[in-house]
This record gives sequence, C-alpha cells and structure tokens, in this order.
Amino acid sequence: MLIDFHTHCFPDKIAQNAISKLTYVSGGLKNHTDGTLAGLKQVMADTGVDRAVVLNIATNAHQMQSVNDFAAKINEDENIIAFGSVFPFADNALEELERIKHLGLKGVKLHPDYQGFFVDDEKLKPIYKKISSLGLITVFHAGLDYGFPPPYKAEPGSMLKAFSWFDSPVVAAHMGGLNCSKEVVDKLCGTDIYFDTAFSYSSMPKYYLEKIIEKHGCDKILFGTDCPWHTADMELRMLDSLNLSENELKKIHCDNALKLLGEK
Ligand SMILES: [Zn+2]
Repeated sequence: MLIDFHTHCFPDKIAQNAISKLTYVSGGLKNHTDGTLAGLKQVMADTGVDRAVVLNIATNAHQMQSVNDFAAKINEDENIIAFGSVFPFADNALEELERIKHLGLKGVKLHPDYQGFFVDDEKLKPIYKKISSLGLITVFHAGLDYGFPPPYKAEPGSMLKAFSWFDSPVVAAHMGGLNCSKEVVDKLCGTDIYFDTAFSYSSMPKYYLEKIIEKHGCDKILFGTDCPWHTADMELRMLDSLNLSENELKKIHCDNALKLLGEK
C-alpha cells in the first residue's frame, strides 16, 4: 500500500486560478494536476497511490471556515484524508480548531510563509496548546518555499523550539526542512518529529537523504510528494536509490502513516 502524506487540491471553482498563481510565484514550477480533487485522484491512480492526505491552508481569517468546510467535504472520499487549517491570527482560531476536531479531521497544516509567522513565535503557543489538547496532528511547511524569500520561517532550530510546546505529533515537511539538510541532521534527527519526503526528489542531495535516514531511522519518515508539484513516481525513484530494506520502505510507504493516523 502507498499513502501519500503530502498533497494539495482546491475547490473546483478556484483550482485553475490557484494553480496559475502558485506556478507563477514559484518561478514556473510544473503542475502535474489541474489542482482539483479529480485531478489528484487521477494522478493517484496513474502512480499507484492508494490514499492521500490533502493538506489545506487557510491564508487569511476570512477564508478559514470555507477551507475547513472543503476539507470536511473531500474527507468523505474513502481514499482521502483531509487536514484542516487555522489562520493563527484569526480571533476565532481556537474555536475553529475545535470545529476541525468536530468535523472529524485528523490534523492541520500550518504554513509559516503563507500565514505570516515564525514557527517559534510565542504568540503561536496557545494555538499549539489547543492543537495538542485536541490530539490533532500538525504538518508544518519547513525550510525553503519556492515562492518566498529568506529568512526561512521554520528552520530546524526554531522547529525544535516550537516542537517542545506540543504534546501531539508534529511533521516537519520536506525531510525536516527544504534546503536545511545539514541543520536537520544536526538538530532534528533522532527527535520525535516526523519528516515527509515531499518534494525531495531532485531538490535534495542524496548524501543528506542518506545521512538523515541513517540518523533519524525509518520509523518517523512518511512518504509524501507535494502533488501537484511532484508525483509519486518521482519520490519513489529517489527512495529506490537509497538501498533501503523492504521493511524500511514499507514503513515509509504506509506503516508509519497508518500508525500516525491511528489506523494500526
Ligand atoms: Zn506542500
């Protein structure tokens, strides 16, 4: 079984616009779907992905509830596990986290660049505490985002500090932080933070992939693609080049995700 822990899609009405905008700000990244749920499901079928975690992001207070309504709607699909999102500075962010739990969503995605915060800002503490009390999983965008200039708002040092404020599982996307591999090895490997493999193919030196897996082990690494920007065949190609055992690959492909989602 293959579970993709890091994908994105948008409501049909805004998908085309969202993809054009994201493609433009990222310097022309190629999209592999049209941004819709149907497009995601098509690429899942084409690349052998059985189930996908869809990470939604509320980029302002105003759209937060509709983002989570969309997540709840697509979460009804048996092969989709949708995460919600809160805009951390919304007046009703804590209540919205309760609604996310009530809607049956298992986690939230927070994106420090799109939401305008540094991951270890004390102002985020109440949000992290509320997430923890609800037992939700948090996926953070970590490291470089192709659409934003430095400084990185979630780099390994600040991620570690933020993690200490959580009592529920945290995933640092992009193998702990895109373009931060050395610091990931030094500061995050060996902690209880999960990493996903999203967007790692061809953007991370193999030397660091091997180092990270060697030091972090395979129990807290989740297969992810960042679809529509990458697809499963790309990240699988990368993993297949690392000389991992069948058992290690199985953990990354699905076992770790099932455990984290409470299904095993
Ligand atoms: Zn992503």
